[in-house]
Amino acid sequence: MIAPGGTIGMLGGGQLGRMMAMCAAQLGYHVHVYAPERESVAAEVSQHFTCAPWTDHDALTGFAAACDVVTWEFENVPVGPLAAIDDHLLPHPRALETAQDRLKEKRFVEALGGTPAPFAPVDSQEELLAAVERIGAPGILKTRRDGYDGKGQWRIGSLKDAEAIRLPQAPTIYEGFVTFEAEFSVILVRNREGAIRFWDSTRNVHEDGILATSTLPAGEAVTAQVEPARALARQVADALDYVGVLTLEFFATEAGPVFNEMAPRVHNSGHWTIEGAATSQFENHIRAICGLPLGDTRTVASKVEMRNLIGEDALTAQTTLAEADSHLHLYGKSEARAGRKMGHITRITR
Ligand code: AMP
Repeated sequence: MIAPGGTIGMLGGGQLGRMMAMCAAQLGYHVHVYAPERESVAAEVSQHFTCAPWTDHDALTGFAAACDVVTWEFENVPVGPLAAIDDHLLPHPRALETAQDRLKEKRFVEALGGTPAPFAPVDSQEELLAAVERIGAPGILKTRRDGYDGKGQWRIGSLKDAEAIRLPQAPTIYEGFVTFEAEFSVILVRNREGAIRFWDSTRNVHEDGILATSTLPAGEAVTAQVEPARALARQVADALDYVGVLTLEFFATEAGPVFNEMAPRVHNSGHWTIEGAATSQFENHIRAICGLPLGDTRTVASKVEMRNLIGEDALTAQTTLAEADSHLHLYGKSEARAGRKMGHITRITR
């Protein structure tokens, strides 16, 4: 158990790290952020900041030596350099390795009995044509690595599209398009002893590949599929001997839950837990990695809606402060670029 006054290392300096750092402070810990970018909204609310590239071995080992435990808020941290600080890291970086490559991730989940959308690795135009012929169109071509919020994705409507597309200079994967009734996520926390708790699954709506809203109650289409999705998430967490918060995203389909992707971290679709659950995902991640008892994950509201503030949405959001039981979170980012997550609002009905 890490005693109060201990230091938590945070790889990545974004809003997820910021919200975790605020919970860490509540529990009496210091946070040391490590990120390559100068602007870090997590470092703004933390005690220490190392601004250095992921590949700076000395900076990374010096940072870890100053921390009692190191975690991450950004899932594309390169895994290679982390070998040097392996003994400090929770969760174990094998979770990052699996989640960073869409192909590896889908094969891993399939081996555990999960059902992803039909997929094929694509490294050439011939492979793409063969994949579209076998799986069918429409489908989505995605880069295997570094894609998020709909980036690195191309919709393929027909074989003709596949012939015309110029492949990116990176390995890709072709996925059949899933017809779904709803999207949802399973968010769990697992402690060092292997105990697992789940939060309620919200219904998630995406716009332009970016999460727009997460709501509860999630509706019958989602709730009917939560149990098998949780069973898979539990298997994933156990297989990785995972410690902390883990998220799996699903499509609810007529044939049952189809696995979309996993995030080995706290997740945007769990931001509602700050006000809507007895213990938030951020606090429970800190509790799990510090060896503290896990908090109750029960929902404490009859209705919840979390809405992301994207780009300029954030500029006028202060007007919502006049609403009862509406909770505004702004991440302190300096530039409201299109498609950038600037904050979120959670509206609660008790
Ligand atoms: P991803 O970054 O892979 O989670 O994709 C972002 C969003 O695009 C998802 O949440 C879905 O709304 C949509 N999407 C991605 N892959 C598929 C698919 N195979 N079939 C249908 N919709 C998809």
